[in-house]
Amino acid sequence: MAFLGCQEKTSTNEPSEIQANTILKHLEELSQDKYLGRMPCMAGEPLTIDYLTNELKSLGLEPGNNGSYTQDVPLLTIDGSISDEMIVETKEGKESWKKGTDFVIHTQRNSSQLILEESELVFCGYGIVDEKLGWNDYADIDMKGKTAVVLVNDPGYGGDDPDFFKGDIMTYYGRWTYKYEEADRQGAEGLLIIHETSSAGYPWFVVQSSWQGPQQGLSGIDRSQDCGIKGWISLQKAQELFTNCGYDFTTEIKKARTKEFKPFSMDAKVSASLTNETKECISKNVIAYQKGTKYPDEYIVYTAHWDHIGVGKVVEGDSIYNGALDNASGTAAVLSIAEAFATAETPPERSVVFLFVTAEEQGLLGSEYYVKKPIFPLAKTVCNLNMDGLNPMGAMKDFSITGMGHSQMDNYAEKHAKAQGRYIVQEAEPEKGYFFRSDHFNFAKFGVPALYGDGSLEHAEKGKEYAETFKKDYVESRYHAPSDEYDAGTWNIDGGVQDAQLYYNIGHDLANNRDWPKWNESSEFKRPTKTLKD
Ligand SMILES: [Zn+2]
Repeated sequence: MAFLGCQEKTSTNEPSEIQANTILKHLEELSQDKYLGRMPCMAGEPLTIDYLTNELKSLGLEPGNNGSYTQDVPLLTIDGSISDEMIVETKEGKESWKKGTDFVIHTQRNSSQLILEESELVFCGYGIVDEKLGWNDYADIDMKGKTAVVLVNDPGYGGDDPDFFKGDIMTYYGRWTYKYEEADRQGAEGLLIIHETSSAGYPWFVVQSSWQGPQQGLSGIDRSQDCGIKGWISLQKAQELFTNCGYDFTTEIKKARTKEFKPFSMDAKVSASLTNETKECISKNVIAYQKGTKYPDEYIVYTAHWDHIGVGKVVEGDSIYNGALDNASGTAAVLSIAEAFATAETPPERSVVFLFVTAEEQGLLGSEYYVKKPIFPLAKTVCNLNMDGLNPMGAMKDFSITGMGHSQMDNYAEKHAKAQGRYIVQEAEPEKGYFFRSDHFNFAKFGVPALYGDGSLEHAEKGKEYAETFKKDYVESRYHAPSDEYDAGTWNIDGGVQDAQLYYNIGHDLANNRDWPKWNESSEFKRPTKTLKD
């Protein structure tokens, strides 16, 4: 060992090595029961925030928010009780739909009561507006007072043209969050998305369970003009509705898949009501940074969400949803990257930011708040590198990119994966829209190129099938369950270390060069052109 010291490093600015022990230490700590599943605004939050803050401090990193290691994130909890039925009136008469079985609705407005009263139903195809594509599912219709009925996913899904809305790969237009946002922009009174299992990527019961019970959103944002009542209806009810209105559902879907589609009134009315209890609380993002030596006002931002879903339904005698993988592991990995930067001989030329966001599980809220109230200007943010769930199955041959093809971040992933003897590959299920389901997405939405990926498809020794079975087992038995726990006996952190090293190497590369990775032409995301300065 000692004799190797004769070989002088060619440059003192070589990337450091990620410490597996650092990852394990933080992972083990944050997965403990005492953190109570790290639910925002609950007793586990201050413990988590203190832990992260102390670790960042002890690494000598600077507080990220004007002298503070935290950023307040005001959250609004809306607990809605829905009227048990929804009344739908067509020329065939009045029908009562049942809560849960036939529909779910909720609101994002800070309002104690919302009513849809004989609101006119308008079929708006996929609910998509894209000027560049000349696509407008709301063309020439004033949605005020009306309720839009829209299809899930986008028109490319299930077709045979990979260039038309990216074929089976889900574009952002396919995601329900987009449809909600567009209904807000259109000033609709209500929005009902027609659920269909394969297009949505999940069965009806997921819709049912996700949208009942309290929902969190960001507080302090005026939503009084937004679409008031939003939700989903079952495929069966949608088909009946079309029939009762004199339309053939399949024919109308076909039409909706073309540019020639025009939205139309279904000559039907819907009534429903919501009574809400609202509560506000302040949660926190944790933020620290290492100042760049040459270009301190250019930023590389690492993110990982610290939160999980707290204490809940007892499963096999356990009620604490520890979220070891999701996302104590990603948090631990970003801490290990912070350590590597903080202890390197040569500090980076650009600034490197470590941002641990809250309320990811409630809808990417901590990262949404950050991009809406950025501490470091987004126009000066080179890229975002997000970690959510570290691979526990061992070293891998691949690095699988979620949302491959969006930006030149792919090139960095490829370069550094290759150096590790790995290849890059597209995520396994691009039709499910995972790119829109973790915190990097908020950066993408606001124009910052983002990378989100991990070794996931091919185990270095045991191959592809092993990896597939392993992941399937996690999703079925541990994802968002109390059994997402850390177990030293079964976790193999080698792959997680590999990924943390890759993430670190990419950040180290970009922190010491002058490049601004760009979005690809085919991506629905772009940097706002005027704001980028080099
Ligand atoms: Zn997560």
